[in-house]
Amino acid sequence: MKDIATPTRTKEILQKYGFSFKKSLGQNFLIDPNILHRITETADLTKETGVIEIGPGIGALTEHLARSAGKVIAFEIDQRLLPILADTLSPYPQVKIIHEDVLKADVARIAEEEFADRKDIMVVANLPYYVTTPIIMKLLEDAIPIKGIVVMLQKEVADRLSAQPGSKSYGSLSIAVQYYTKAETAFIVPKTVFMPQPNVDSAVIKLIRREKPPVDVLNESFFFTVTRVSFAQRRKTILNNLTHQLPQGKAGKEQIVQALEQAGIDPSRRGESLSLEEFAALSNALYTAFH
Ligand code: SAM
Repeated sequence: MKDIATPTRTKEILQKYGFSFKKSLGQNFLIDPNILHRITETADLTKETGVIEIGPGIGALTEHLARSAGKVIAFEIDQRLLPILADTLSPYPQVKIIHEDVLKADVARIAEEEFADRKDIMVVANLPYYVTTPIIMKLLEDAIPIKGIVVMLQKEVADRLSAQPGSKSYGSLSIAVQYYTKAETAFIVPKTVFMPQPNVDSAVIKLIRREKPPVDVLNESFFFTVTRVSFAQRRKTILNNLTHQLPQGKAGKEQIVQALEQAGIDPSRRGESLSLEEFAALSNALYTAFH
């Protein structure tokens, strides 16, 4: 049987079921087996790996994952795809489809139940582009025991996830993701491998979870607040953003100046020039001053 992802077989499947794409669900299906092969290779799967897929569509990537991994759990929100997947994936009993919005699902519990006998867990997906950031943050913030994430997303978002200080794409999302993982763009993907073609360029990103964060912070949630407010107005200085955006800011300008000094950060710098280490030192100094 030909791969699901060949243009002819995809068209046959869509026609057979009278399926029409829903733009609102980010439905851009992959129609190039080479790209699927490269995604699966980037994820370093073995028969002992459990894979979580988000949005299997008609099963193009799922089929490749099933061939390399021991077990695949795939979350699909669109009910119309369920009978299609039951048909296209019938040769792969190691695949289980869960009809749920991944953002509402208890992924940690499902992973624990389904993958108790697996050596490691990877998330591999061609993500629906309207929700890439919330999905990635959910996977990182909920205590889901994953080894890593290999996903296709908008190139612009991939750039932000792996950006370093000083670059235009660097922001609080880069810091949050790099706090939890080592992030690298694996490869860039042309629009032509999708049906229908998206409006933006795509990339595959690989995030490998760190055993422990690279910096010590006194309070994680405060650290993320400090990084977020530091980029609130990108043209403004770090001092200006902190005084205007932190709840304690207006009354606490003097303490903010002192905390910046303590962390060795010139108050006239901009958030985009601060490294993860500098943000950690700053947030610890501010936390001590305000709590
Ligand atoms: N994996 C397929 C492929 O590569 O051809 C389809 C990828 S398509 C970009 C995204 C898929 O995610 C669609 O099947 C869509 O219905 C599904 N989806 C969208 N939002 C979702 C959500 N919140 N939870 C689970 N699946 C979702």
